Amino acid sequence: MALDPSVNIGRKAWLPCSHCSHRDGLYLLDSDANMVHVQCPQCHKVWWIDTGNGVGRRSRDADGPPWPAQSA
Ligand SMILES: [Zn+2]
Repeated sequence: MALDPSVNIGRKAWLPCSHCSHRDGLYLLDSDANMVHVQCPQCHKVWWIDTGNGVGRRSRDADGPPWPAQSA
């Protein structure tokens, strides 16, 4: 997989890669509220990271999944 063409190497998210041993920052492709879309410059994996800065999300972390199952 090649680097995403929308990568702006001037914008980086200073987070370690969760897919390989890269620890020196990820390319920041996009962001939406508290989610950031990143690509690892080493393994080229692309994924979304929840930065946990959203309102009312933090308290759910200890209780399991962030989105509770809907009871139909
Ligand atoms: Zn990686």
